[in-house]
Order: sequence, then C-alpha cells, then structure tokens
Amino acid sequence: MPDSDLTARAAELDRADPLASYRQLFVGVDDPDVVAYLDGNSLGRPLKASAAEVSDFVSHTWGSRLIRAWDEQWFDLPLAIGDRLAAAALGAAGGQTVVGDSTTVLLYKLVRAGLALRPGRTEIVVDRDNFPTDRYVLEGVAAELGLTLRWIESDPCGGVTPEEVRAVVGPRTALVVLSHVAYRSGYLLDAPAVTEAVHESGALLLLDLCHSVGSVPVDLDAWGVDLAVGCTYKYLNGGPGSPAFAYVRAEYLPDFAQPIWGWMGSARAFEMGQGYVPADGIRRVISGTPVVSAMIAMQGTIALIEEVGMTAIRAKSVALTEFALRLVDAWLTPYGVEVSSPTDAERRGGHVTIDHPAFKGMAERLWERGVIPDFRRPQGLRLGLSPLSTSFTEVLTGVAAIRDELARA
Ligand SMILES: *Cc1c(COP(=O)(O)O)cnc(C)c1O
Repeated sequence: MPDSDLTARAAELDRADPLASYRQLFVGVDDPDVVAYLDGNSLGRPLKASAAEVSDFVSHTWGSRLIRAWDEQWFDLPLAIGDRLAAAALGAAGGQTVVGDSTTVLLYKLVRAGLALRPGRTEIVVDRDNFPTDRYVLEGVAAELGLTLRWIESDPCGGVTPEEVRAVVGPRTALVVLSHVAYRSGYLLDAPAVTEAVHESGALLLLDLCHSVGSVPVDLDAWGVDLAVGCTYKYLNGGPGSPAFAYVRAEYLPDFAQPIWGWMGSARAFEMGQGYVPADGIRRVISGTPVVSAMIAMQGTIALIEEVGMTAIRAKSVALTEFALRLVDAWLTPYGVEVSSPTDAERRGGHVTIDHPAFKGMAERLWERGVIPDFRRPQGLRLGLSPLSTSFTEVLTGVAAIRDELARA
C-alpha cells in the first residue's frame, strides 16, 4: 500500500475510534517534542487531572486534615482502591485485592505465602523468558527454602502454552509463576487453560498482570487463578514507582501467611500490642505504612476504566496492534525487520516487538526525534500502545520514523 493510503487509513481509524477523545485527557499529547509515545507499557502518561488531584492531596487532605486523614481515609485506602481496581479491571469480587508495595516485594510475599499453602511440595515452575524480577525473586526464594526451580523453555517470540505447563507440573509442584502478557513478545497466555493445567497437578498459580492490567481483560475469579500481582505505573498511569497490587483468592485468606509481619497488617494496628496477629482478610498482605502519596494518580485511570470498560479498551488495543503490524509489514519488512510477537490477535497483548540488527543504538536516535519506543536486548524495539492515550496517526508517525532510520543505516 502506498504511503498516502496508509496515512489516510490512520486518519480514518482515528476518526472512527470511539475512544479517540480520551487521548486529550493526558498530559503531553500535543507536545511537539514527542510525536509518538510508544512506551506506555513501561511508564504510562499522566492524566491532566492528576496534577490537580496531587495538589489537592498536598494542600487539602495532607495539609489540613493532617494525621486525622489516616482515620478518615488513608488506613483503608489500599483496600478501597484494590476493590475498585478488582471490579473495573480484574474480574474479582471485593475483599481479595490490596494496593501495597512494589511488584517485586508483593511477588516475594505472595510466593512465600503460596508455598506455605502447599507444604511438602518442593518445586516452583517458571519460564525462562519471564520478567527478570520474577525470575530473580524465585531464585532467591528457592535458595532460601532449599526448593527446586523447574524452567519452561518457552518460545521468546511467543509464550508459555498450556501443553508446556502440563508437561512440567506434577505432584512435587507447589507453585507456578507466569506472566499474563509476556513483557518481551507480548504473548497473551491462555489463562483459563493454564490455570486448569496447574490445578490438575494440585499446585497453585500466581499470575503476574503487570503487562495486562488496563489493556487486556482479566477475569481472575472466573478463571480460578489463586494469586496475582501487577503494577500500576504501566497501563494504569499511576506514575513512576506507584505501588503494585496483590490479589489473593478469598478461600486462601483465612490461612494466608505472608512473611513480612508488620503493624499495618496486624489485627489491631493502633493498639501497639505484644505479639503479631494477622488482620482478617486481605489486609494481612500489608506490612508497613502504605505509600498513600503515590496512590493518587492511579485512581484517575481506574475511574476511566470504570467509565469505558475493558471490552472497549481491548478492542482499541487490538486495533492499534493490528495497525502497527500492517505498517511494519508494509514499511519495515522490506528492510529485513522481523516481528517477534504473535500475529494472532487473540494471543497478543498490548504491545508488539520487532527485531533487526540495526535497532541496536537506534533507540537513542529515535528518542532524539521524539519517537519513543524502548529497546530490548539483543536487537528488539518494543512498541507499546496504550489504548486510552495512543492514536493511530501516532503509531504511523512512529513506524515511519523507524523506516527513515533504517533507510539511513
Ligand atoms: C514491569 C514489571 C515488573 C516490575 O516490578 P517492579 O517491582 O515494579 O520493578 C515485574 N514483573 C513484570 C512482568 C513486569 O512487566
């Protein structure tokens, strides 16, 4: 297809996009220095409303309610936001989700608690291409407890299949830890089938939702997932380092024993008594004082998801990645660029990874011209397409810049 046809097609897709107007709610979308932001899956853009909300938090809630705000709202805020997120984006009933530490720390806590629910079992299953922090946390826990890691050698351009899971789990498996959407390839796990395969072995499944929450529909309760974590600074636009969330299936909560005992997760936090007794319910996942000041911005995006719905967000996400692949096919494959993401939309999350030897070092040149994907070793560019803040024309501008740079290379 000639350039002008694809340009016209992008404009047409933007005109027909029912979510197009949401883009204007974000900071920086008209900034001439950033013509294509393709990394919303690493750090989402802030909502314009976040500035006023953070300012109001400082001057009103913190500044004038002072310590009283703990009683009035902050003590329960991690649970209140957890429940809202659960209803809007996780397919989870109330009382099972809490916003807390970083993803890494919540992973550690949930892994340890999950293993304690399967005493006598000695193996943890994880895949070779899982996000580094997931692998490292499991390596640490395995070393700490003398357990064995069983690795799934998954396809780096695809992801873990239910068959691969079934082949590796068994009576010794305590826990399986997988990403719902693979951070590199964008592969979307068949979560219901994988959950079933894990449960057949009697093990538990911990799903990492970092790259799916806010971009791909999630149905934790219906799928039967046991435990989940996810971050809030990617598609939920919570800001750099905004705290992650944890989901614990209700049936496990009465016996759920996470390893970092702190006063904020104890049964009577303000009594300052002797001896740790965990709080009832999901509060026991909390350890110390929650990062209230970093929980402001994410609430704006959760409200948008409540308004728009995950079905419409997913439809836009699929349309964006389909269009990106069409552009790559027309403009980049003639240079030898390869697609390292699933071509089947049903098995693909919200980003697309493309590979070429010339991409090494190209990211800086793209960043200089205001086109911002990220580079993934050894030679991949990752195009992250955040459904509420990315336009089709922006995708076109980004892929055109990559073509320009390839032509120069
Ligand atoms: C982004 C991401 C993380 C990040 O963990 P932090 O503790 O927030 O640094 C973890 N797992 C996956 C799959 C991710 O994509």
